Amino acid sequence: MHRRTLPDAPAARLSKGGTWRLCMGRVLRKRCPQCGVGKLFRTTFRLAERCDHCGLVYRRAPGAQTGSMYVCAAVTELFAAFLVVLVLLFTNWSPALAMSIGIPIVLAFSYAFLPYSMAAWVGTDYLTDVGNREWWAQLRVPGDPVSRQEPRES
Ligand SMILES: [Zn+2]
Repeated sequence: MHRRTLPDAPAARLSKGGTWRLCMGRVLRKRCPQCGVGKLFRTTFRLAERCDHCGLVYRRAPGAQTGSMYVCAAVTELFAAFLVVLVLLFTNWSPALAMSIGIPIVLAFSYAFLPYSMAAWVGTDYLTDVGNREWWAQLRVPGDPVSRQEPRES
């Protein structure tokens, strides 16, 4: 089976670490991993369907963001465990007081972290596509001629 692959563009000469830093830096700033220009989110907790600059589709399949929920839950549990340790070591709070203060803090952390978890999931998904040299994954790097292309109509 023939697969279309990327031609060797300057982006293809980035090291794996350089590509990873570029894409993850972009998504953690809530920007498109491919171009770094388009917004990743339509609202605080809702991904845009696609990049409004380069056209990259962020969520290509139903359930594609399920993993980000697991990551968010796991990180939130680690954060909660860290808080429990802090309370046990440095306070003599009753369990009721610790829970009445701790639960809102953990919930706030979870809501604040969720968009970053979703963004990191999009970035990881995209990096997998770049690594597999999928034809739609055309990483745009500052100074790269591909980066100056007009946005694609779709
Ligand atoms: Zn883009």
